Amino acid sequence: MPKFIAGLLVLLSGTGMAATPAYQLHWQHKFSAVEQEKLGQWLTFSSQATLAVLGPYPFQMQLYVYQRRGNEPVPWANTWRQHSQQVHFYVAPQFNTAQFIADWTAYHEMAHLALPFLGKNNAWFAEGFASYMQYQIMQQAGLIGSATDAISAKFGRQRQHYLKQHSMADTAVQLLNQRRFAAAYWGGAQFFVVAERLLRQQGKAQLNQQIQRYQQCCRLQDTNLQQVIQSLDDVSDSSVFSQLLQQFNQLPAAQFLQLYQL
Ligand SMILES: [Zn+2]
Repeated sequence: MPKFIAGLLVLLSGTGMAATPAYQLHWQHKFSAVEQEKLGQWLTFSSQATLAVLGPYPFQMQLYVYQRRGNEPVPWANTWRQHSQQVHFYVAPQFNTAQFIADWTAYHEMAHLALPFLGKNNAWFAEGFASYMQYQIMQQAGLIGSATDAISAKFGRQRQHYLKQHSMADTAVQLLNQRRFAAAYWGGAQFFVVAERLLRQQGKAQLNQQIQRYQQCCRLQDTNLQQVIQSLDDVSDSSVFSQLLQQFNQLPAAQFLQLYQL
């Protein structure tokens, strides 16, 4: 059995560049042929769904698959950016293809790769982005009804944590330090809820289209949050992202939520 299998083909940005597989698959544990078939279908579906919303990416995703016992299809996953753009999936192979495809984890992890690693202090931004985008991807793939409703319901259960004098960003950082992950992630996702709304109000293309543009101009250049924000302002021909970041950093969270009626 080959150590890795090339994933599906995508054309890079329609410029006549050679077709490159969207991902390479690395089996880290022993999986049966039937399991490999099922997990391969899941990762092909997930990468197609993710790249249809955010991509194509200007690099090949490196997907590592491990076995782990669990009562959900993907008990654990994380991204790793040391030498390449990697996602590590720890999977419970007793679940079927439909159950894997219905799980949010792959969309979330692959969405992370649309942005560079931004450092621990900006984890709220990275997690807010991936959490926001996982439901956009699932909506476009026909797996859920309304991403807006799903995100609003998730944040509704965490909103109490943000009725503070500390800023949205500071509150999300504190919540991450307290390992209140859902509270931190869905608070961070409000940055993108508001960015989407401001882009629409200013007659700009929607957020995922700005992220698609970002892949082509800037993804491989930027190395920190300030650069990402500047690039997103540039591709959207706006100051939506820099102004919003300032409010996220400076306005008391309670005031921010009131301002945007979140
Ligand atoms: Zn994440």
